[in-house]
Amino acid sequence: MTVSVEGLAAAVKGRVVDRGDAGYDEARALYNAMIDKRPAAIAYCVDEQDVAAAVRFANEHDLRIAIRSGGHNGGGLGSVDDGLVIDLSQMNQVTVDVTARLARVGGGTLLKDMLEATHQYGLTVPVGIIGTTGVGGLTLGGGIGHFTRSFGLTVDNLVAATVVLADGSIVQCDAERDGELFWALRGGGGNFGVVTSFSFRCHPVTTVLAGPVMYDLDDAAEVLRWYRDFVPAQPDALGIWYGLVSVPPGPPFPEELHLRKVAALILTQAGEEELPAMREARSYGKPLLDGVGPMPVPVWNTAFDPVYPAGDQWYWRGSFVDELSDGAIDVHVEYHEKMPTWKSTMHLYSIDGAASRVANEETAWAYRDAKWAQVVAGVDPDPANANAITDWARSYSDALRPYVLPGGYSNFAMDEPDRVRGMYGGNYDRLARIKAQYDPGNVFRVNQNIKPAG
Ligand SMILES: Cc1cc2nc3c(=O)[nH]c(=O)nc-3n(C[C@H](O)[C@H](O)[C@H](O)COP(=O)(O)OP(=O)(O)OC[C@H]3O[C@@H](n4cnc5c(N)ncnc54)[C@H](O)[C@@H]3O)c2cc1C
Repeated sequence: MTVSVEGLAAAVKGRVVDRGDAGYDEARALYNAMIDKRPAAIAYCVDEQDVAAAVRFANEHDLRIAIRSGGHNGGGLGSVDDGLVIDLSQMNQVTVDVTARLARVGGGTLLKDMLEATHQYGLTVPVGIIGTTGVGGLTLGGGIGHFTRSFGLTVDNLVAATVVLADGSIVQCDAERDGELFWALRGGGGNFGVVTSFSFRCHPVTTVLAGPVMYDLDDAAEVLRWYRDFVPAQPDALGIWYGLVSVPPGPPFPEELHLRKVAALILTQAGEEELPAMREARSYGKPLLDGVGPMPVPVWNTAFDPVYPAGDQWYWRGSFVDELSDGAIDVHVEYHEKMPTWKSTMHLYSIDGAASRVANEETAWAYRDAKWAQVVAGVDPDPANANAITDWARSYSDALRPYVLPGGYSNFAMDEPDRVRGMYGGNYDRLARIKAQYDPGNVFRVNQNIKPAG
């Protein structure tokens, strides 16, 4: 399809790359190499006026818009065939107000760059576990990570945002100004506008005691049962999730463990002095390896980045879990044994603690009652394995369906229009009303799309 983007380069100050440009293939590449989209153009906006100009240009030329922050979205929702990608990667400034413990962060900032900047002031923000993820998509979908039990979801720490709306106007929103919009941003995804800056409440943490404790595959079921029973009684200060993984084939892991399938507890606490809950967790069972140690927050936030660089094939599915039954545990063990590639994985994040003390209707994120967020991810660098990882992830998540809540986490999904209503749960209708108010023409529809009410 030929789409004209003539005049776009004159309309925005930032670089514009279109199909005729040498850098086009690089510019259109997404983190998930399974997704191959060919936008009409990519506009590297440099400020909110640029974003507004790009939105207006797309409206005038009837172009679909995709918003790209870190480009990590599993379903490739940071790009669009024949449409305009508004790329925010140049908008990555981070300003820290130490006294107020606030960080103002550009909409295209990567998590690692935000945490590096806040770390200079002894502060941090609870975010996801991989540093190259964009703050934009992660935050608007919720934001689960090592500190979820301690400090809540990323959205629970959002205090204000600047948004370019569907008509190109720019608003500042918070609990008082455009409060419904601010509510919707905290879990409603990119449906309401382009967030050009986020203001986060920061926490005074510089160092963590963190790392994996790994167990033999034969112990996986027992470890999972222990994890299920142990965690809910622990103080918020213990960050913990359970992973079915393979040991990466390189340092710092001992060679004899390389590529071995293991069950892992991934532990995090603020500060170096070991808390009793951390001690108890580390003393459970007979681990093959205890890799817990002190490190600066930014080091922990990027510890898994080398295992998961951009350009791998990904297929994933996410669900929420409120009861971890023995039946589900049997499924986990069965599919761990069948794991098709060493990078494929299952994570079960504890989302109780601070995150669970926010009511379902306080923010758009509707799964506060769930105890765990589960993701099954088939991952491999080789496109020849795309079918194998997809089949495994689908069949695994199908087998778990009797044991999970309906719906799922929008950030752990592919492009799954049939599941969208469930992603927003009981908050969908209110979100649809807010969508009708702020984006009645559904200008922002390349996302887990909420249709405007009425
Ligand atoms: C390796 C990996 C690790 C991950 N780890 C975690 C994790 O620990 N915790 C977790 O919660 N999630 C995690 N995720 C999921 C992640 O949150 C989603 O994939 C998210 O969509 C990525 O955000 P992004 O900005 O990088 O993506 P992009 O592809 O750039 O954007 C995704 C979508 O978000 C919207 N969007 C992005 N920025 C903006 C903006 N500024 N304004 C408006 N809309 C915007 C758009 O609708 C866009 O379609 C991980 C993903 C990967 C691939």
